[in-house]
Amino acid sequence: MEIRALKGTKDIFGEEMRKWLDMEETIRNLCNDFGFSQIRTPIFEFTNLFQRGVGETTDIVQKEMYSFVDKGDNAITLKPESTAPVVRSYLEHNMGADVQPIKLYYMSPTFRYERPQAGRQRQFHQFGVEMFGTDSPTADAEIISIGYELLRRIGLNKVELHINSLGDTECRKKYNETLKAFLESKKDGLCPLCNERREKNPLRVLDCKNEACQEMFKDAPTVLDTLGDECKAHFEKVQELLTAMEIPFVVDPKIVRGLDYYTKTVFEFVSNEIGAQGTVCGGGRYNCLVEEIGGKPTPAVGFGAGMERLILAKEAENGNTLPPATRDLFLGYRGEGATVWAYKLVNELRKEGVSAESDHLQRSVKAQMKYANKIGAKYSAIIGESELENKVINLKNMQTGEEKEVAFDELVTVMKQELNK
Ligand code: ATP
Ligand code: MG
Repeated sequence: MEIRALKGTKDIFGEEMRKWLDMEETIRNLCNDFGFSQIRTPIFEFTNLFQRGVGETTDIVQKEMYSFVDKGDNAITLKPESTAPVVRSYLEHNMGADVQPIKLYYMSPTFRYERPQAGRQRQFHQFGVEMFGTDSPTADAEIISIGYELLRRIGLNKVELHINSLGDTECRKKYNETLKAFLESKKDGLCPLCNERREKNPLRVLDCKNEACQEMFKDAPTVLDTLGDECKAHFEKVQELLTAMEIPFVVDPKIVRGLDYYTKTVFEFVSNEIGAQGTVCGGGRYNCLVEEIGGKPTPAVGFGAGMERLILAKEAENGNTLPPATRDLFLGYRGEGATVWAYKLVNELRKEGVSAESDHLQRSVKAQMKYANKIGAKYSAIIGESELENKVINLKNMQTGEEKEVAFDELVTVMKQELNK
């Protein structure tokens, strides 16, 4: 049998890997500018963390988790999102006792058993941010502004920000009643899953992917109508802050998000450039989750962004903007005696941070120069018989074609000078 990678998974290497490293660097710099520090939680957790944290009636828990029993009879799940693990870690390490807010970000493989298609995989990667310990609308606005700034830095202009408020438990309770009544009146036309969820989790019903259902939800009552004074003021302040930060948005009462833990502000950044799977980033406030997972009531807000979709959207809008890969020097050789010198010099260069390569395949000089071009060498030289005798090489600038003689023991110094020009 031919062994292949699993459906919905991808190997990342070569040019594609360079795009990933570039995106990761952008994200690290971004988070540093916003004062967020990185957290890495394990790839797997006890299954009940997600059952409790993500919610029993969500698509993720009902249909998408990679769950298994390990050899010690533990029920384990590959993380389908990272917020619940980060909350678990926040509690386990008593971060609540530290100065608040706690501002964390992650980049993590994420696993969901879904039907693979463009922008939808079974192992994908999420970049996310979480801020704990404050209910201030400034925190919501700061979280949204990180997403916006990321999209600005990677040159995505054709992305829309949709925001909504789901209210707190009080407003939600009221809204759930109104919504249940509305859904009851539509029950004959709803899909079986919606009818199943209608009573237990009416809000989740609005997130159904079925078009016929969505059509019916057009005139559903909106949660914004049932917001209490405090939630209304909070939502207005978030909007005022976004406006002041010159972040354009539309209020979209249809945004309910696919996870149970959200309260108050929710939002999505949607790209129109990458087809049906256009949501590149989604998040919101989740003031009940920390308590749900066993901690003291702790307000929190965050988002998750699909890194595959960010990379796709960036390329769709701007093409490949990465400069080609380069190497500082290719130092080839001809003849047995030159081999040792080539590797001795290459090693000295590398110790000084000059990227250098030589030949491993006993290729002809012509083939070695072809290789030098392929790796994007800025400079090249070949150690032949006379070079070996005089301990001098002809260093060629591959761009201008200029050549100059450089003694072996001057090579490191000269290369460093040349590269600093
Ligand atoms: P969708 O409605 O597209 O399924 P979601 O609501 O399930 O998205 P979230 O749980 O909010 O998504 O995850 C945050 C982000 O992670 C999404 O906006 C998307 O960019 C990305 N994402 C989610 N699922 C996948 C997947 N299977 N493959 C690639 N990216 C994904
Ligand atoms: Mg999904």
